[in-house]
Amino acid sequence: MDTTIGIFGGGQLGRMMAQAALPLNIHCTFYEANVTCPSAILGKVFTSHESKDLKPFIESAPVFSLEFENTPLNEVDELVQSGKKIYPPRQALAIAQNRLSEKNLFKALDIPVAPFLAVDNLEDIHIAVEKLGLPIVLKTAMGGYDGKGQFIIRTHDQISQAWEELGAAKSLIAESFVQFSREVSIIAVRGQDGDVKTWPLAENHHHQGILSHSIVPAPKSESLQPVAQEYITRLLNHLDYVGVLTLELFVTSQGLYANEMAPRVHNSGHWSIEGSTCSQFENHIRAVAGLPLGETDCIRPTVMVNIIGQHPKIDDVLRLEGAHLHLYNKSERVGRKLGHITLMPHDSENLTDLCRKLAKILPEPLALQSDMNI
Ligand code: AMP
Repeated sequence: MDTTIGIFGGGQLGRMMAQAALPLNIHCTFYEANVTCPSAILGKVFTSHESKDLKPFIESAPVFSLEFENTPLNEVDELVQSGKKIYPPRQALAIAQNRLSEKNLFKALDIPVAPFLAVDNLEDIHIAVEKLGLPIVLKTAMGGYDGKGQFIIRTHDQISQAWEELGAAKSLIAESFVQFSREVSIIAVRGQDGDVKTWPLAENHHHQGILSHSIVPAPKSESLQPVAQEYITRLLNHLDYVGVLTLELFVTSQGLYANEMAPRVHNSGHWSIEGSTCSQFENHIRAVAGLPLGETDCIRPTVMVNIIGQHPKIDDVLRLEGAHLHLYNKSERVGRKLGHITLMPHDSENLTDLCRKLAKILPEPLALQSDMNI
């Protein structure tokens, strides 16, 4: 195969897609504001910063994909009008960009979700509180990520504050607060021939709204796996999807509730680079290029830990048994994802012990420490 895939965005997801593409002799180009982005070392960056002229980027490849679900739809339209293909399809992107459309789609496909209502004004919040009961989670319909653009209303006197903080967004969604025991995600890929493959569920732990680490397979998930698999397959087939799709779910005493989908490779799937026969990045590239999909098994129990804000000492990380280090070539900044570490010891009995050791090495170990009861 000797082809090029153009990718909207050039962050670490684009970088890892391009890394997975290289052995298949597939090259990537990127459309990104920052010419020194993490992907720059792997392919030409067409900067979206100086000129908004998409043409040079559109001419750089026959087929396109994205690493960012908020890729502007008008840019995707320009690409499609010029006769080029983009996977995932525009429709999936448009739905994922709006929490209301997303939740309506889940409902229409019989995928359980927390009760929700659309909110356009202050009065609507009062109605939502009355109908759904407290607490409710108020979210902007568009543009929020990593917990941004959200307000948990626990008491009636917080209603006006919530509206003051989020009302400018105009379109909001009010959801019942889900009493979940844990958060998991399912990642699947669909090829151009309709073949679907699903990775094992990841159990995800967050710190200050950002993913801290994922455990794969999610412990005690044998009965949840087929259900999650069924939900994501329904979405993939309904959307005539091509590429990798992620579905984030809450585990509750009543079963799984869908929270949101990401029409792209996902942080909770980084473990698959070493942990699966075919990683989410390689399978996404295969799907976009129209190639057969690879196996999505979990070779051995794995924990993926994000490096956030500050780099750890590389030597210390690499001394840990079965540790793989991925750095994204980004400078340090509070809350920024700089890289990740995959722990995959031969003897999975050692996994907890290794996580404890890693927590001592990381500059920001809080979530890992609390999860490991350190
Ligand atoms: P989101 O931006 O929708 O992924 O939400 C960020 C985080 O907020 C999730 O990972 C959950 O921990 C929490 N969250 C979101 N929606 C709800 C909800 N309806 N009930 C309880 N927690 C929620």
